[in-house]
Amino acid sequence: MVIDTWGPEETRAFGKKMGQEARPGQVICLNGDLGVGKTIFTQGFAEGLGIDEPVNSPTFTIVQQYDTGRLPLYHFDVYRIGDISEIGYEDCFYGDGVSLIEWSQLIEEILPEHVTEITIEKDLEKGFDYRKIRVEEK
Ligand code: ADP
Ligand code: MG
Repeated sequence: MVIDTWGPEETRAFGKKMGQEARPGQVICLNGDLGVGKTIFTQGFAEGLGIDEPVNSPTFTIVQQYDTGRLPLYHFDVYRIGDISEIGYEDCFYGDGVSLIEWSQLIEEILPEHVTEITIEKDLEKGFDYRKIRVEEK
């Protein structure tokens, strides 16, 4: 599935819809360049799960857990990861919560076999606020 968004509110709304539909144990890989909207998507996703806390990039912690929604959310941002043994990911990936992983391509070797892969891209010919969001079940 591919959807086009024309501003951050639309990306957030799409994330919210996916959060409303999220299933226990789902692992969502979120890829795309810096500033493309991965965190905006995540904020919508968290809202869709009913999480009422502010969600930002867990830059210094690699993973941030949110427990106030319909399912636990594990928000990873592995951009600055040094060694994959730094993170305790197994309880997140193989439990009943939902994992959302920014920059998942950096930890490909530890990802579960089945993931939902979301790729966000800009296309400056379509405008500064345009994003193409591709969703694939793998
Ligand atoms: P990332 O987490 O991928 O580094 P962020 O979500 O932190 O990116 O930031 C995305 C930036 O792009 C925000 O400043 C947001 O306002 C802007 N933006 C502009 N258009 C869009 C869009 N269509 N979807 C998402 N973000 C957008
Ligand atoms: Mg981010």
